[in-house]
Amino acid sequence: MTTPVLEVKNLAKQYGTVQAVNGISFSIKQGTCFGLLGPNGAGKTTALEVIEDIIAPTSGEVLYNGAPKTASFREEIGIQFQHTSLLNFMTVRETIVTFQKLYKETERIEHLVESCKLSDILGQMNNKISGGQAQRLMLALALINKPKLIFLDEPSTGLDPQSRRYLWEIIRGIQEKGKTIVLTTHSMDEAEYLCDTIAIMDQGRIIARGSPAELIDRYCEGGTITLPRENISLPLTELPFPYRETNGRLEIMVDQINTGVEQLLAMKINLSDMTVHSPDLEDVFLNLTGKKLRD
Ligand code: ATP
Repeated sequence: MTTPVLEVKNLAKQYGTVQAVNGISFSIKQGTCFGLLGPNGAGKTTALEVIEDIIAPTSGEVLYNGAPKTASFREEIGIQFQHTSLLNFMTVRETIVTFQKLYKETERIEHLVESCKLSDILGQMNNKISGGQAQRLMLALALINKPKLIFLDEPSTGLDPQSRRYLWEIIRGIQEKGKTIVLTTHSMDEAEYLCDTIAIMDQGRIIARGSPAELIDRYCEGGTITLPRENISLPLTELPFPYRETNGRLEIMVDQINTGVEQLLAMKINLSDMTVHSPDLEDVFLNLTGKKLRD
């Protein structure tokens, strides 16, 4: 079996009386994207900062390629922080060149520009670029030292849907080049889109771990078909499924969407204006904790 890039063993971090991270363990395989998913305050950023060696743990250990971290760790990782201030008086190009001077071996600027889609804004001042462009620049800065392992702390927070998707495609492209990515997010669609493995965190602990599909399979059942109440003329008690009536619509809980739809059609129920919901990571979190991720 190949040695994992990172092994996190029983990691804990306490701030005064706050147990920010409470004994988490996991390992991350080379070339995969691993996500820490959880609501605000779950302990994701703290966990990431301990793994990155920015803050010391209260207890526990982190192995890098099977051994305690050495000085080379810092040179081999790239970090995109949640909050980084860019210098207003510099252009995007000048910022990249300045950061390049901090490292011995660096990625070529053309390569960074191409992979992070910066060609249109290279000459612009940092304070004149959009949120999405700033995130792409931050990503380029995280890649500057040709890292093998990249940490992204809530990479798309605050971006509009189009910029988020654009950033996701760039992150995917980086992963396809064989880099290992560790990210935090409180967006289940981001985790679902980018991550091979997810650890769901709540109150400092990992409450579930697996691929998005495994988690949904393990913690959720069936799906929901929602119809306008007036579509159903027969007595509701004749429905062969559990249901719930809310705001003039009927939520019908089925084991499988396909067979559920077939059965409703066979009962001559009008399916116009139907919506269908298959379980997702939001449902996993809700089923595990009784709370919504974004509460
Ligand atoms: P978010 O999504 O909001 O960034 P998070 O999951 O990353 O949340 P953390 O920022 O790791 O969560 O915070 C976990 C807990 O630790 C919170 O209760 C937070 O208030 C607390 N905490 C974080 N940093 C510190 C600090 N430097 N001093 C004291 N408490 C802290």
